Amino acid sequence: MTYDGRRMTDDVGLCRTCRWVQVVTNRRGSTFFRCRLADTDARFVRYPPLPVLRCAGYEKAPREPGAEPEPYLGGTAPG
Ligand code: SF4
Repeated sequence: MTYDGRRMTDDVGLCRTCRWVQVVTNRRGSTFFRCRLADTDARFVRYPPLPVLRCAGYEKAPREPGAEPEPYLGGTAPG
């Protein structure tokens, strides 16, 4: 999340705090946000265009109050 002088912006959107996201980093250091819900529900795509601003599948991941987002980190890098 960045502050551009006028408003807070988030290049990822809802996926950042969703219980279904899997954050994947490839060997070149690029980070991808994979939707694990796409594995079982055809309404969702594996790598949604970001930022995701509205999503029928969004479920906020459980977090301790004030904690940084801690998405699922397992899995393999695409390509
Ligand atoms: S369910 Fe929606 S918000 Fe959650 S990871 Fe998938 S695309 Fe992102």
